[in-house]
Amino acid sequence: MKKKLMTPGPTPLPPQVVEVLGQQVLHHRTREYADVFASLNSGLKYVFATHYPVVTLTASGTGGMEAAVVNCFRPGDRVLLVSAGVFGDRFYDICRSMGFDVTKLEVPWGKGIGAGEVMERLTPDTRGVIVTHNETSTAARSDIESIGKALKGTGALFIVDAVSSLGGMEVRPEEWGIDIVVTSSQKALMCPPGLTFLSISQRAMEAAQGNTSRRHYWDLCKAVDFLNKQPPQHPFTPAVNIVMASLAAVTLIQEEGLENVWLRHKRMGKMAREGLRAMGLEPFADERYVSDTLTAVKVPEGIDAQEIIRRMEEDFGIIIAGGNRSLKGKIIRIAHMGYISEGDVLDTLKALEGTLAGLGLPVDEGKAYTAARTIMDIRG
Ligand code: PMP
Repeated sequence: MKKKLMTPGPTPLPPQVVEVLGQQVLHHRTREYADVFASLNSGLKYVFATHYPVVTLTASGTGGMEAAVVNCFRPGDRVLLVSAGVFGDRFYDICRSMGFDVTKLEVPWGKGIGAGEVMERLTPDTRGVIVTHNETSTAARSDIESIGKALKGTGALFIVDAVSSLGGMEVRPEEWGIDIVVTSSQKALMCPPGLTFLSISQRAMEAAQGNTSRRHYWDLCKAVDFLNKQPPQHPFTPAVNIVMASLAAVTLIQEEGLENVWLRHKRMGKMAREGLRAMGLEPFADERYVSDTLTAVKVPEGIDAQEIIRRMEEDFGIIIAGGNRSLKGKIIRIAHMGYISEGDVLDTLKALEGTLAGLGLPVDEGKAYTAARTIMDIRG
C-alpha cells in the first residue's frame, strides 16, 4: 500500500531527490564531486538566508549540535540552555556531558520563549545561549529573532537548533544575530538522514579558533578550512550520495523561492490547526508559539492515541507520530514539513476525521476539510 509520511523527520523525498539517490557514488576528491559540493554550498547559503559559511558534516542533527558547542565552549564555561521539550533536554545532556556549567531555563511544554526571559537569566559571564527554534516534541517555537537581537552586543554566543524548522520556517542568521544555526538533512530539507549543516558566524569561528578543548571529527575550524579550499572539500569522506541528493533538494527550494516555501509551511500549519479545531480537537501548543512545520494535537479523553496512529496507517496509509515521554498517549503529531503540499494536509485531515468517527467520536465528517480549504483559499 502507498504510504504518506506526515512525520517530523524523516520526511518524504521528492522524486528529483529519489532519482539522484539511484546514481553511482562519486569519489569525493574528484572534479565532478567538487562541482556538486560547490553548488550545494551556494544553495545552502540561500536556504540558510546567510552569507556565513555553511559546513556539511556527516552525522544526524545531534552530531551537529555537539559540533556547535564543543567548538564554541570549554569545560567549565557558563552556558544558558533553554529547554521546552525533548530536544531542548537533549541539548542540555550534550552540554552536561561536555562539562559546561549549564543553567537550564525550563519552559513549560507547549510554550516557547522570547528575549525577556532569556535576558533576565543572562549573567555577565554567560558564554553562550542555546535555544531550540522549533521544539519537535511539542510543536511550539521560540522567538529566536528577539532573543538573537537582544543578545547582540553581549559576550554570549547564540546557538540555535533549527533541525525541524530550517527550510520551512524563517531563520536569518546575520540579521537575528545567530552565531551557529544547526539543521539536518532529513526534515524540511527533504533528504534522507545522514548530513548536518551548520552556519557559522565570524564570532563563532574566532571562539572555535581560540578554543583548545579536545575534538577531532567535530572540529569546525578544520571543516571551514577545507570548505575554503579551491575547490571546496571535506576533511573526511562525506556521505557523498546524500550530498548529491541535498543539491537536488536545495535546487527545488531555490526554484520555489525560499519565502514561498516559508509561506507554504505557514499556510499548512494554519490549515492543520483550523481543520483539527473543526473536528473538535485542541492543538497542544499555545497559539502564540505554534510551529509552521508540525502540529501537535491533544487526544480526546478515552481515546487511545496508539490506535489512532495504527488506523491512520492501516486504513489510510498515512503515518503520523505520537507524543514523547510525558506526552506519550496524550498527543498526536502531524508534520507538514518539506515535500508536503496543502493537498497532503487535506488528505490527512480527512483521514483523521474518518479514523475518529470510526473510534466513536461524534465528528462531523467534512467539516475539517472545509475549514482547512477556507484557509488554503485565502493564500498568502
Ligand atoms: N533537534 C530537533 C528539534 C529535532 O527535531 C531532532 C530530530 N527529531 C533533533 C534535534 C535530533 O536530530 P537527529 O535525530 O537528526 O540526530
